[in-house]
Formats: sequence, structure tokens, C-alpha cells
Amino acid sequence: MKLKLYNTLTRREEVFEPLRPGLVRLYTCGLTVYDQMHLGHARTYCFWDLLRRVLRSFGWEVFSVINYTDIDDKIIARANERGIPFRQLTEQYIAEFLRDCDELHIHRYTVYCRATDHIPWMIQMIERLIEKGHAYVVEGGDVYFSVRSFQGYGKLSGHRVEDLLEGARVEPDPRKRDPADFALWKAKKPGEPSWESPWGEGRPGWHIECSAMAYGYLGDQIDIHGGAVDNKFPHHENEIAQAEACCAGQFVRFWMHPEHLIVEGQKMSKSLGNFITVREALAQWDYELIRWAFAQVHYRQVMDWSAGVIDSYRSSYERVVGLHRRLEEVALEGLGEEDLGQVLLPVEEGLEEEMDEEVREVGRKGWRSFLAALAEDINTPQAMASLFDYVSAVNAREAQWTEQPKVALYFYRRLSELLYLIGIERARLDLHPKLVLQFASVGRTSLARTEKPPEVWVLRKLLQLREEARAKKDFATADKIRDLIQMTGARIEDTPRGPRLVVPELGED
Ligand SMILES: [Zn+2]
Repeated sequence: MKLKLYNTLTRREEVFEPLRPGLVRLYTCGLTVYDQMHLGHARTYCFWDLLRRVLRSFGWEVFSVINYTDIDDKIIARANERGIPFRQLTEQYIAEFLRDCDELHIHRYTVYCRATDHIPWMIQMIERLIEKGHAYVVEGGDVYFSVRSFQGYGKLSGHRVEDLLEGARVEPDPRKRDPADFALWKAKKPGEPSWESPWGEGRPGWHIECSAMAYGYLGDQIDIHGGAVDNKFPHHENEIAQAEACCAGQFVRFWMHPEHLIVEGQKMSKSLGNFITVREALAQWDYELIRWAFAQVHYRQVMDWSAGVIDSYRSSYERVVGLHRRLEEVALEGLGEEDLGQVLLPVEEGLEEEMDEEVREVGRKGWRSFLAALAEDINTPQAMASLFDYVSAVNAREAQWTEQPKVALYFYRRLSELLYLIGIERARLDLHPKLVLQFASVGRTSLARTEKPPEVWVLRKLLQLREEARAKKDFATADKIRDLIQMTGARIEDTPRGPRLVVPELGED
């Protein structure tokens, strides 16, 4: 099966293969960290999460990078409003962003990078652009990129430099050679944070951070670069200009741009009162239902969110998770430890081989047709349709799997895989208390197979099971679960205010 993705750069679907065999290098533009994450962000980041899951199911490793824009006009203004240093503000919203992402079960990226931690990289890139005649310093210490010096300007968005000039509504800065030129470095203004540079104190422009960090972490040619659709112009157009003018060759192979989320037909905005933060959404709807809803609309289409629409998805969602739950119950009640222990192995190794040809075909077809839909430019609505075909086929065999719990286990595991791809991770039989204890006692865990850094939600779930055991004064069990957590490299610290999870690389939870 081939994976096809729509490439904004070529304006068509193309077969995707990583440039380096086996490894996908992915960069996605992250949040400007001065406020809480809203549902539009959630849709975008859930999409990148889904894409990464699909890429991995094609057998590729994914090295993923996301940035935090932690210095810009809005950040400075908000920090001044509150009378706090800008770093205090950005630290707060980075922590909230990570918490929201974890609750949405967005897997952690390989690298999270803050713009202000990478200013030397940006300065190097700007110096090189000046050397090569693509950028110039003006009086006062600002540095601009010369748009006309880069032939390919406009290739992503289709904008021509001439059109940009006609559309300009503001009087251009007279120090610019061309009104369409954009800032690489901004000279310090009174009361603003600043960094040393060869052109005097100042701060980087927004666009340069992504070019410099993508280059620094992923090399001069990357497989996929994405951002929400409003990043296409000018941000990504400018990123291409900077990166390709600085380093020879094509900067990005595939550009991807998920569409916006609107609320009841209107753009989300605080003034309209239809602004929904992720916090508010999670208070109202389970994360699983939110991700289920996202999967109903193709990522290149605008999604119109409303409470009514979400409620209309609820019955289909409950039908599927209801079946999932029943399959789990039948498996847990009917099977012994040895059979259940098969959840430690990939389903193809062992369990599937034991099934009758007919049963096996139901499971394989369910998986193949779901993945085939996702392989067509991540067609989630089509994938949902094939999920329902699978659910109907399993329901039609109810008499069989209630009689044969091993068949129930097999159907359960295949259904879990489908749900997992769209980000619904209720489906971890190996996190059932009965099995956690069994694995803890034999010192085995399937958690060793999870991504690095560890999936925080898995550790939290284990911590919760440990607390439940402690509440029942079952300390032997609690200790076994603690050992299991430690096998993943994380640890629990018991503090007077309760237990605290410490995850390496991620710090305290
Ligand atoms: Zn960016």
C-alpha cells in the first residue's frame, strides 16, 4: 500500500516516501505562547498526531519537531499588561499547552524548541543570507530579507511580488528596498527584551525561527512541514525563501495545511463570544468524543463545530465503544492469563494465526480498508465508513465471539488498532488492572514498546491504579505497579501533597 498526501507546493496528491529510508523528518509550526490553546489549535495538533500515527503504521520512524514562538509583539504586550517578565508568561502557557495536548492524547514530539533558546542559530542564518546578497541591514539595526533576490518567491502560495505591492494598505517602511521585504531581525525598542547580534541589540523576526530550527534539527531537506492554513502565506512562503536562499536545494518535500475550525458558521473570536478553549471543551466533552468528531471531517475541509453537531456524533461513537467494551468483557471473563498475555505481542504474531480463515479475514479486512482510506490523503471520513463496516461484521458474528472468547480478544485488538489510529486510546487491554498486576509480577511490560518519551497518559493511568491499590491498603500491589512505572524510566515521588510523576526529559508532571 502506498501513502498519498496532498502537497500544497505542487497542488496535487503525491505518493509519499521518506527521503531517508525508514525515517520521516517532520516539522510543524507550534503555538505563540501567550494564551490558552483553543479548539482550532486542537484540531490542527490532533491532525499532526493522527498523521504521525499513520506514518508509523507504514513502518517508518518519525522524528518530529515543533516550535514555540516565545517572543513576539503579542507576548511582549501581554507580559507588560500583567507586569511580569515575558518568560514567566511563556513558561505558563507552554505548561498549559503540554497539559492540554496530553489530555487530548496527542503523543509527545521528539523535540520541542523555543525560539529564544535558538537565537544563535537564527543569527548564523541571517549572516549567511547577508553574505549571499539575500538580506541587508538598514539604519537603526534592522535586517530585511530581499524578496526580489529570491527567484522562487511565491511558489507555495501562488502570490506574486507585484500583487503584494498593489495590495499593500500600509505605507511601507522607507528603509526597505522593496515594500514586500520582510524583517529577519528587529532592532531593540525601549522596554522590549533583546539579544546581542552583529547588528546591535534586538530580536528575531517570526519567520526566521522556523527556518533556523527546522534546519538545525532536521537538516537542509525535510520530508514534511506543516502548519494551519493561515501559515501558508506569508509565514511558509518566507520560510522557503530564507531556507532555500541560505542553503542550496529544496527545503521541504511536502507542505501540508489543515483547514480551520469555525464555530456555528463563524470564525472563532473572543469578541463574538464563540471562543472555545481546549480546557472548556474538555470540561464539556470527553477527549475521545472530541477526537471522534475531528475524524468525521477531512483535514482539508473547514470544520463547523457546534454542540448540536457534536451530540449528533455521540450515538455512533457510543455504538463503537460499546462494542469495544463488550468484546473486552468477554475476553477478560473467558480467558486465562496466558491467553490474555498475548496482548504483549503484535496481533499478527500469534493471535491472528490461531483464528479460522473467515474470522481472520474479517479482522484483516477491517484493518486494511481502514488504513487504505487513510492512505488516500488521510481520508478520515472514508476511514470512519470502513470502521462501521468492521463493526457490522463483528456484530453479525456475536454468537460466535460470545462462545469463543479468543475470537472476542482478536476482534477487540483489531478494533483497538483502528481507534488508536484516530487517537482514541481507551483501548489498552494491557492497562486493565488484572493484567497490569500479572505483567508486574513477571516483570514484563508492553510499555517498553511505546514511544520515547513515554506516553504520559499511560503513566498517569498506572499511577491511578497504584493509588487505588494504596487506598485499599494493598501495598504489595501498589509496590508492583510502582516497579512497573520505574521500568519505563519514570518514577514516582511521594510528597506531602500526594504522589508526583517524574518523567525523564519532560520533568515533573
Ligand atoms: Zn513556523
